[in-house]
Amino acid sequence: MLKKTALMVCAALAAAPALAAPKNIIYMIGDGMGPAYLAAYRYYMDDPATKTVERTIFDELWVGVATTYPDDDTVVTDSAAAATALATTHKTYNGAISVDHQHHNLTTMLEIAKAKGKTTGVVATAQINHATPASFIAHDPARRNYDAIADDFFDNRVHGKPVADLMLGGGTQYFIRKDRNLVEQFKSEGYQYADNWDGLRQLNKLPAMALLAPEGFVSTIDNPEPAPLKQMTEKALQLMSGSEKGFVVMIEGSQIDWCGHANDVACAMAEMRDFAESIKVAKAYVDSHPDTLLVITADHETGGLSLGANGQYAWKRDVIKKVKNSGDYIADQLLPLKDAATLYQAWLSFTSLPLSAEEQQLLVNARAEGQKTLAKAVKQRIDHHSLTGWTSGAHTAIDVPVLAYGADKAAFAGFQDNTDIAAKLIEFIQK
Ligand SMILES: [Zn+2]
Repeated sequence: MLKKTALMVCAALAAAPALAAPKNIIYMIGDGMGPAYLAAYRYYMDDPATKTVERTIFDELWVGVATTYPDDDTVVTDSAAAATALATTHKTYNGAISVDHQHHNLTTMLEIAKAKGKTTGVVATAQINHATPASFIAHDPARRNYDAIADDFFDNRVHGKPVADLMLGGGTQYFIRKDRNLVEQFKSEGYQYADNWDGLRQLNKLPAMALLAPEGFVSTIDNPEPAPLKQMTEKALQLMSGSEKGFVVMIEGSQIDWCGHANDVACAMAEMRDFAESIKVAKAYVDSHPDTLLVITADHETGGLSLGANGQYAWKRDVIKKVKNSGDYIADQLLPLKDAATLYQAWLSFTSLPLSAEEQQLLVNARAEGQKTLAKAVKQRIDHHSLTGWTSGAHTAIDVPVLAYGADKAAFAGFQDNTDIAAKLIEFIQK
């Protein structure tokens, strides 16, 4: 009965006349966050004391799905082509930062927003010149041209100003170089700047920039700074909320993807938690500012994550919940331990996961092969016991979730292409 009412409400929303465009847009991208990541997070967060599986913030806001294929015959997109689609409405080739096949610039929604006098920003836990945030601000034929892309953050201008009024993330090594100090250049144009977390908390006006790591941040699961994306999301919304003509901000959970590439499920769940907490902050902002639209999606899936593996009908999230660090971090700590018993004790301190004598020997053998092999063995033991599956160390072409909240959320319901999301948002920005 409840279901029927919800459906009727949805139908009523869809049939309603076009609403006024939102003043503010919060666009959140979970890099690599395919639908299995949302399902995994739901069961991972489930309260075992209750019979029902509690819905997560993702489940509450889920309205549709999107295709992610790039403009070539690979079907599987990379983050640059996907971010270009999500930022400009144009599909392009893998590796392109908001340029087409002929390397012509594709206008991004932040450029359009800036031209309309809106306040603009990007937030990421990667370096801010990484593919996703870069595709909203810069143009380059190759995502790996990190220095040139960083230069574009300053040199690419709308009405004589840099595209973004706010930039929070990592990347000092690209913005403070021997050949060019972009941070000093931004400062000379009036940008407040912070390079540590206390400094971030003290930022009090725009334009502003915080670069909190040389490249991407340390993985959230290993990071002594709690909930890094949530902290930046709070600061971003605080700084942008005063904007007279409204704001457009892209907030990326950058490293869900990196954990996926590493096939590290505990790492992925920690990133999902920080992303979920950031979404809660954004949702609360919409509740107190109803002229704001929140849209959340992923650029693609990473790793081919599956809940259940090896022919068994089970996925054991309790195994994952007890893992304290990333596989890489655990391997770093285990590597110097030559004695098998000491190694196993350390393993237990990081994972609380008992291993058979045979499995303990697997770890000892992997340790002798070096850090990479050991990290892989650590993650394989966790996957084996939790029945977590991975099909790839790269991306997959599965459709991604689309979530939305706010008065215009119905515009993102149902089946769509990633370029449709950008088209609707740009339509709102241009109104
Ligand atoms: Zn990736």
